[in-house]
Amino acid sequence: MECIFCRIVAGTLPATPVLENEHVMAFRDVNPQAPVHILVVPRRHVVSVAALVPGDAALSAALLLAAAEVARREGLEDAGYRVVTNIGDDGGQSVDHLHLHVLGGRSLGWPPG
Ligand code: 5GP
Ligand code: ZN
Repeated sequence: MECIFCRIVAGTLPATPVLENEHVMAFRDVNPQAPVHILVVPRRHVVSVAALVPGDAALSAALLLAAAEVARREGLEDAGYRVVTNIGDDGGQSVDHLHLHVLGGRSLGWPPG
């Protein structure tokens, strides 16, 4: 199994888990870009948002709900935070397993570079 996020879901690559349920797993980014930087991934291998199909509606909702729950658990709700997902080369995607970045703990600025 070459996909690193599939390996994290399978438990063969270590990560620091934050939340797990039937559909998703959330764990801390190894190279955080903010004081809180957590990745929310589907347990099943899906390449990106661009690969989602109508049958993935429950999974898609689970990803967003988990991102919001992670932010609550990390105490980000009052100050605000960002949820972002990168798609393909121009989007800056470096791991081809769908993931939401949950970023917070500092003012993030907009627009991104
Ligand atoms: P992307 O650039 O694809 O949107 O984001 C991939 C993210 O995965 C990056 O923020 C990167 O730091 C993170 N990452 C890459 N390899 C690992 C790993 O082995 N463990 C964890 N926890 N995060 C990783
Ligand atoms: Zn995968």
